[in-house]
Amino acid sequence: NHKASSPHIVMIPSPGMGHLIPLVELAKLLVHHHNFTITLIIPTIGPPPKPEKTLLQTLPNSINYFFLLPIDFHDLPPETKTQTKITLSVTRSLSEIRNVFKSLAASSSLVGLVVDMFGTDAFYVAKDFNVPSYLFWSTMAIGLILLLHLPKLDKMVACEYKDLAEPVKLPGCIPISGAEFPEPFQDRKSEAYKWFLQYGKRFDLAKGVLVNSFMELEPDAIKALQDEIGLRGPPIYPIGPIVQTGPSYGPDGHECLKWLDEQPRGSVLFVSFGSGGTLSFEQLNELALGLEMSGTKFLWVVRSPDNKASDASFFSVQSQTDPLGFLPKGFRERTKLGRGLLVPSWAPQSEVLSHGSIGGFLSHCGWNSILESIVNGVPLIAWPLYAEQKMNANVLCEAWKVALRPKANENGIVGCDEIGRVVKELMEGEEGFRVRQRMNGWKEAANKALSVEGSSRKALSELAMKLKKHK
Ligand code: UDP
Repeated sequence: NHKASSPHIVMIPSPGMGHLIPLVELAKLLVHHHNFTITLIIPTIGPPPKPEKTLLQTLPNSINYFFLLPIDFHDLPPETKTQTKITLSVTRSLSEIRNVFKSLAASSSLVGLVVDMFGTDAFYVAKDFNVPSYLFWSTMAIGLILLLHLPKLDKMVACEYKDLAEPVKLPGCIPISGAEFPEPFQDRKSEAYKWFLQYGKRFDLAKGVLVNSFMELEPDAIKALQDEIGLRGPPIYPIGPIVQTGPSYGPDGHECLKWLDEQPRGSVLFVSFGSGGTLSFEQLNELALGLEMSGTKFLWVVRSPDNKASDASFFSVQSQTDPLGFLPKGFRERTKLGRGLLVPSWAPQSEVLSHGSIGGFLSHCGWNSILESIVNGVPLIAWPLYAEQKMNANVLCEAWKVALRPKANENGIVGCDEIGRVVKELMEGEEGFRVRQRMNGWKEAANKALSVEGSSRKALSELAMKLKKHK
């Protein structure tokens, strides 16, 4: 079979579409440009969601995949954080991962293991087979700097980070206020926080760190990384933006793409909160009314509300109940005729964002969504929900100035007036115009980084060379 001679890389994406999608794209790049064979070993928590299966079915021949047996979490307390479950899904799969490694090592020449931040326990398996491990960093470089400084901050700071009087200044980063630190850092007694402290110490075990960002976008942060860990430890490879390419919804495409074909250029706001984001019932209603008030066309991926803004659908992706049933009375009728299209749970986002009819993106600021917006030059409305999204939103608004951010009221709800105002501003206002222009600048920079002589393509070639040297 095709495994025979080409150098073979194992990748272990931790659960979550936001982790799988960029690793699959990295696999495609390594296969197309550098002739590797790839096997994805996929830990699972339950039956894989449909978008995941669809994605995997379109892979080229040189990329194989295995689903591992679903991990049982019934022993965990109900308040266990998503991040902890993600990590445990890998940890509890280690003996199975070891078995797969064993059979792959017997039949091919394994040259590397690539995992994301939640999969570093698998480093020890790779080590036993004398296979070098690489870490794929799937959010902004600034986030990695923060993680690497976490053990130090943990020693220096006595209070919760959100109570710090001053923003934290780290090398190569804009000042970050403690309240914007990633969600798992917000409760220092939590299990999730302790895991993150551990992750920060794992980097030295990697043979290289692949960062899904690019030199032109984060020059200071990437240089700081290269100075801080690249010099004494594993080299840093800024190889991004790596975003989903090609059709993601089967051969006939999704109905929303046909609807977009009928809309004027740049006229539609895309509204989506990533693979798992949910709003509270009250917030969902305000958003609906705000979209209606804005007068703008919109394409909205609607998920059923949860009792608070959260990552409630992270593992399942699909809502368990019909999300459209939660919208304000009469909303669907009033916005139906060409004004708005509602898609329950999941849309082919990267195809949507590359469609000419899209003029803006109201996003939860997941890193993949941000990169997809950048490569398509689509300006953003920043609506962070969980994980490291507040920090991302702040960088988008304050450093790159490519997003507008609606303000929440004293109850933490963004009211419909505010939503209507910000949407209008993005789509038609002067500030929106400037934000769009800047985003187009980043789009050009991204294309350049990915072109043959570009910074990211070069970094990928260096990585490929290093991988091939192992035997
Ligand atoms: N995505 C999609 N359709 C959806 C929601 C999400 O294709 O309806 C994709 C999106 O394009 C991105 C990924 O899922 O590639 C989500 O990753 P991101 O980092 O933005 O957020 P996360 O879901 O990890 O919070």
